[in-house]
Amino acid sequence: MSAKTIGIIGGGQLGRMLAMAAARLNFRTIILEPQADCPAAQVANEQIAAAYDDATALAELAKLCDVVTYEFENVPVSAAEELASRVAVYPPPKALEMAQDRLTEKQFINGCGIPTARFHAVDSQAGLEKALSDFGGQGVLKTRRLGYDGKGQRVYRSVADSPEGGYAALGNVPLILESFVSFEREISIIAARAIDGTVACYDPAENVHRNGILHTSTLPSGISEKTAAAAREAAEKILTALGYVGVIGIEFFVLADGSLIANEMAPRVHNSGHWTEAACVISQFEQHIRAVAGLPLGNPRRHSDCVMTNLIGDDILALPEWLRLDDTLVHLYGKTEARPGRKMGHVTTLAHGA
Ligand code: AMP
Repeated sequence: MSAKTIGIIGGGQLGRMLAMAAARLNFRTIILEPQADCPAAQVANEQIAAAYDDATALAELAKLCDVVTYEFENVPVSAAEELASRVAVYPPPKALEMAQDRLTEKQFINGCGIPTARFHAVDSQAGLEKALSDFGGQGVLKTRRLGYDGKGQRVYRSVADSPEGGYAALGNVPLILESFVSFEREISIIAARAIDGTVACYDPAENVHRNGILHTSTLPSGISEKTAAAAREAAEKILTALGYVGVIGIEFFVLADGSLIANEMAPRVHNSGHWTEAACVISQFEQHIRAVAGLPLGNPRRHSDCVMTNLIGDDILALPEWLRLDDTLVHLYGKTEARPGRKMGHVTTLAHGA
């Protein structure tokens, strides 16, 4: 049985965890990533050190791999499409296209019959003022592209927050103003779709953010079974509409009445799904590898309650304490420098009784 090779575009911690899961199922992995000694390449078979849209590197990746996937959503769509003409690329480039721009993402999600916050595209200062007045002076202004971990955002809480200079402050780029959602909690669902169309959903996690970055994911979340079913139904609609293959992460706001407002989707494994490696037999990483390699999906059942905590920047200094805790899985990303806001690792502590 000769080992098949999976190409992974992007060399961060998500690629690292995908490569580790792939190795356990006898797959070889090749990472396309410009940065040397990146977290993923430390545990993969090979690295092609080049930009994500380098034509020569993409041709080489297509030649060497049986299937190519990616670990982040900002892979240029043209590069993914070019690659898809030579080798199987999962998730499909269309998923990248929909997720890269918050405007097309919301239009797509609404088109699936799933509610989002109300929104206006904002392309000028005058446009910002008009959009804000439509939302009573409240809203969250975001860059349409390349925002992550709360970066490229500005919150307007009331008419007292002057919109002056707001458009330029986010860099004179295309923006979106979302209506401000008064949510009770934030959840996410990690779901997978296989090549044959089978869908498997993990339990929704309840997420707490600090400074715009995910801090903890807790299972079970405090939502009702009805709300959980709505999250699964939304995930299935999105996956089916995209003809998706692989794992997706979808974030929602939960309102006081239990209804869901979709916030965003990530066409990849997701930070709020890291708990699955400790509390499920099949992690989101293995599930993604199974899906893109055409293997049967694993059962996403959760065997334990748990809390996943991100280790951001100096949080890593508490490592000795985490290592002393029972039923706690520590996962580090191989990054040497603990800069503020940088994800260094995560820990998942099990609380038995699921
Ligand atoms: P995002 O980058 O879209 O995930 O936003 C980061 C965080 O900002 C979310 O997890 C929420 O806590 C908050 N947020 C984003 N959009 C909204 C919104 N429309 N209304 C209220 N809070 C929001």
